[in-house]
Amino acid sequence: MMKRRLFLGAGCAAGALASGCDFSLRDGVFNACRADLPTDLRDHPLVTSAWRGLNPEKVWDTHCHVFGDGDSGSGLWYNPRLEQIWRPRGYVQREFYVNASCVDETPGNVDKSFVERLLGKCLGMPPGFHVLLFAFDWARDDAGAPMPERSTFHVPDTYVAKLAKNHPAHFEWAASIHPYDPKALDRLDAAVEKGARAVKWLPSAQNIDPADARCDRFYARLAALQLPLIAHAGDERAVHDFGEHLGNPLRLRRPLDAGVKVVVAHCASLGEGQDTDRAGKVMLPNFELFARLLEDPNYRKNLVGDIAAITQGNRMNVVPILLERSDWHARLLNASDYPLPGVVPLIYLKSLFDQKLLDPEALEPLRRLREINVLLFDLVLKRSLSLNGRGFPAAVFETAPFFKRPT
Ligand SMILES: [Zn+2]
Repeated sequence: MMKRRLFLGAGCAAGALASGCDFSLRDGVFNACRADLPTDLRDHPLVTSAWRGLNPEKVWDTHCHVFGDGDSGSGLWYNPRLEQIWRPRGYVQREFYVNASCVDETPGNVDKSFVERLLGKCLGMPPGFHVLLFAFDWARDDAGAPMPERSTFHVPDTYVAKLAKNHPAHFEWAASIHPYDPKALDRLDAAVEKGARAVKWLPSAQNIDPADARCDRFYARLAALQLPLIAHAGDERAVHDFGEHLGNPLRLRRPLDAGVKVVVAHCASLGEGQDTDRAGKVMLPNFELFARLLEDPNYRKNLVGDIAAITQGNRMNVVPILLERSDWHARLLNASDYPLPGVVPLIYLKSLFDQKLLDPEALEPLRRLREINVLLFDLVLKRSLSLNGRGFPAAVFETAPFFKRPT
């Protein structure tokens, strides 16, 4: 048992998108991937009260990953090292993603079944609900050339744009454009043309320094287009090939000062970063550095945070603070980090209850929901969190207006 636990823990620590995790096996290991929502669960008071006061038309889950192996000709790619069982970290991580998203691994079915399963989950939500799907650019060198050997995933803009075009009732999309790519500005214009709602970066995995002057032209165009930049901040733990320092929230001052609308993914809720506002090497929780930006009156209009994955064991220390700071609520966007909420050991529901953030009666229906529809599970869980009777208001979940394009 001990061996198994360590093995899984190592896989998780290397999880490409997992941002590290505090493993708990007490809720089980694998997601059962059940299909239909039974009536008693659909009509459960926990579920109905989660939707009460929400306009589903405005409810977008603003952080969803897409993956596959390209077996449909999609251009989807993952690094073959994830498949090598003698490198257990990558292998276990990949198995969890496959399981969490309930993918059919039969060759030729991987890409297609990922989309079908995700659509099935969207159909389990009230009409109007959308997910914001993320493309994922290559890691690129300083001249902007792709570095497949140092990349973990590649999810082409064109593929995700097509998914959104083919399924407009359920999908919106965010492009992923590396600012060092010599074609970055053309790609940005093309993405906007195809209906992109944002640009997504994972700096430590893609070799992007958000504080570098090389990004300035890109920032100027983003600001002119009023297109939000969703930047992963805080530790990544998994793909930190180019250094966790790139995830320091203070590096995002550069796009903020350029007038870019910035979404700090996960509210930077993991790890420590250097307080570069002070002399010497003072390390502070990245979340605290994010809070400093949030409190800065200069960024009141263009800085928000997403609450993707904050219920994970290693991030949930920020939940009470985020619940308490009602003055921040208008600047938080709900998001699931799909498929991660389906990775059962990442979210240990009982410890949320132990911290008095979750009603004990919510545990059983939430466990069942997770096995059937992780999008619904994540939304109901976040809607059910409360501290001294105070939860996240509807505005945190009604995220669509933030991504509205100027006409
Ligand atoms: Zn993510």
